[in-house]
Amino acid sequence: MTRFIFITGGVVSSLGKGLMAASLAALLQARGYRVRIRKFDPYLNVDPGTMSPYQHGEVYVTDDGAETDLDLGHYERFTGVPSRQSDNVTSGRIYSTIIAKERRGDYLGATVQVIPHVTDAIKQFARAETDGLDFVLCEIGGTVGDIESLPFMEAIRQLRNDLGRNGSVFVHLTLVPYIAAAGELKTKPTQHSVRDLTALGIQPDVLVCRCERPLPESERAKIALFCNVRKEAVIPALDARTIYGVPLQYHAEGLDAAVLDAFGIAAGPSPNLGRWDDIVDRIGNPEGEVTIGVVGKYTGLLDAYKSLHEALTHGGIANRVKVNIRWLDAELFEADAADVAARLEPMHAILVPGGFGERGSEGKIAAVRFARERKVPFFGICLGMQMACIEGARNTAGIDQASTTEFGPTTEPVVGLITEWESARGRQIREAGGDLGGTMRLGAFPAKLAGNSHVRGIYGAEDISERHRHRYEVNIHYREALEDGGLVFSGMSPDGSLPEIVERPDHPWFVGVQFHPELKSKPFDPHPLFASFVAAAVRQSRLV
Ligand code: GLN
Repeated sequence: MTRFIFITGGVVSSLGKGLMAASLAALLQARGYRVRIRKFDPYLNVDPGTMSPYQHGEVYVTDDGAETDLDLGHYERFTGVPSRQSDNVTSGRIYSTIIAKERRGDYLGATVQVIPHVTDAIKQFARAETDGLDFVLCEIGGTVGDIESLPFMEAIRQLRNDLGRNGSVFVHLTLVPYIAAAGELKTKPTQHSVRDLTALGIQPDVLVCRCERPLPESERAKIALFCNVRKEAVIPALDARTIYGVPLQYHAEGLDAAVLDAFGIAAGPSPNLGRWDDIVDRIGNPEGEVTIGVVGKYTGLLDAYKSLHEALTHGGIANRVKVNIRWLDAELFEADAADVAARLEPMHAILVPGGFGERGSEGKIAAVRFARERKVPFFGICLGMQMACIEGARNTAGIDQASTTEFGPTTEPVVGLITEWESARGRQIREAGGDLGGTMRLGAFPAKLAGNSHVRGIYGAEDISERHRHRYEVNIHYREALEDGGLVFSGMSPDGSLPEIVERPDHPWFVGVQFHPELKSKPFDPHPLFASFVAAAVRQSRLV
């Protein structure tokens, strides 16, 4: 039997609902249960693919090519369960499906309404593809009281009846603020938010209370009394020193036991959380530190590079070092070369991440040049690889006008629009000037690594699969010129048509990848490229 855990949030946003869902799933998994986490996003975009990373943070891409909310990245990092298209739905997707059906005449003359049509579609989504699972955790985006999330609240209210008492549990995350003037933690906002929830017909079974200070027993009892929840099911949640300590903290406070109890399942002995202990130990007791400069565009909002940040941390875990990340705005590098050197000299390694658009590109190219000439470890990801190829073309292959068609017409399109590629859905063909939404090469694609290459050694394999999200590619016609300049194409799509990896054999660590390896890295299974890159930064730190 598949049981459902519905997770809502109250009082304010940014309390760490996604992290709580991911941690709870990890704890249930440690107890031997098979879990999957889903996210319901109330906004009207069909998917977050076209939303600005400044506003919404990174777009997390799944193996099956869905552009999803960044919380799915947390889910995957904490559980190791690869997310799928069916794990993220938005109001936009639900409505566009319903409206398309209405236009086809599928509703046979009925009036199409929020209840039951929208709520039914949400319920179907929640229950799809759940075979073999013990628990499905569904996180509802936003905060109770939002107009947008009402249909989702109504759908989960109905689901409780559909699934039966033992088939569903409601977990509500709230804030218990500390008021310095009174010297007290205040429970009123929690009471109000639970009242809002009960007004929608949802009585939470478990309350998770985010607080800056330890929650006194008296306040816990008060919350239990006023919110109609058992005292053991009021779980205090203080800030953790690292996000990877959150599962251990929630376990210590009894979250997994309270949820199982709400289902009427005996919790049994404590699960083995050894892998989380090890990660927290490695983060808490590093044997050294390195500083890595990330030269990108969206450096103002850290969520824009969420998975990258985590993957670098995982590289640190693998090497038992602390990774200090310096987010450097690429536009600052466009002034003069002396300035570039001054900013980059303190770095033990340089990374140019993925991105879109021309702004800051000359700064990124200058950063690649610095890393190449000074032999500082360099990692280029997606747009970063493309910039490495343009830098190589201009400065080592004599192609002064090298550019990408992404930035406008060019006589030397070292990077150009991908027009055709193979995918699981057959051959994909694109034309210049088409729609921008949902037209990228998205999801997992295989690549073949050259026999004696650096990356072949790093992966320890010839065949790999990595996730992609791009519209442009390095132009294969420039291969010979670039290779003559020392930039070797060491990974290709299996049919040999798309360059996937470039590297410089005459450099200590210089790798550019067309895909996003950061999406698959996990704290307990750091991605080999990030583990190796951070190891190279450690070697560099011993040189300087
Ligand atoms: N803008 C580039 C492209 O579309 C790179 C995309 C990325 O870095 N994710 O190919």
